[in-house]
Amino acid sequence: MSQLHPGTAAERSRLTVLSGPSGVGKSTVVARLRATHPEIWQSVSLTTRRPRPGEVAGLHYLFCDDDAFDEAVAAGELLEWAEFAGHRYGTPRAPVLERLGRGDPVLLEIELEGARQVRRAMPDALLVFLAPPSWEVLARRLTGRGTEDEVVIARRLARARIELAAAPEFDVTLENDDVHDVCERLVALIRSDEDSAPPPPDL
Ligand code: ADP
Ligand code: 5GP
Repeated sequence: MSQLHPGTAAERSRLTVLSGPSGVGKSTVVARLRATHPEIWQSVSLTTRRPRPGEVAGLHYLFCDDDAFDEAVAAGELLEWAEFAGHRYGTPRAPVLERLGRGDPVLLEIELEGARQVRRAMPDALLVFLAPPSWEVLARRLTGRGTEDEVVIARRLARARIELAAAPEFDVTLENDDVHDVCERLVALIRSDEDSAPPPPDL
């Protein structure tokens, strides 16, 4: 279950969702965007997964236990949430709506079920699918990252097949051949969306 309330037209039109199979390079792309385009605000998700080496609480994720995640769901604090490879992930609602209300461009990096929830509740959101150059490259990237054991990698690859099949549901597919190029193409998409957006509401 999840909860998601549509916002105003101005709010919806500045929301971009980036999705794609595990290992395709989403975190790499959003990390580069964070450094090069800080004006694009990135939501920080709540997750029950343990931090990977180098991940910073509050920057990459808000790490929590199952009870705290349950409480956030019960309190209606999550815009969307889903289970992925044995852990739960969700987008805190309040900061996203606050940024959209100010007219800022907002980026969510979330998996397929979350993207579908956003699609249903906010049909004007721009849904971008990040695709690997090939299945072999995806498997190599996921394995080469070295952050998961074999069982977890197998679980994520099985899920990746499902995610790849859903690419046609998205507005745009970007192939992650080169991180720099992908970032520029993504920024261009976000900007073209902004150009057609109505002005932010007077608050
Ligand atoms: P995701 O967040 O989608 O699970 P990551 O960003 O963690 O994926 O990337 C998985 C691995 O692939 C990382 O080791 C990353 O450095 C590498 N990677 C990401 N994008 C590219 C690219 N365009 N070319 C080569 N390697 C890449
Ligand atoms: P990872 O464990 O590799 O960081 O993330 C696993 C998957 O969860 C990725 O596909 C990532 O995009 C997704 N994810 C991260 N945060 C959220 C979120 O808030 N909601 C949803 N639905 N998925 C998320």
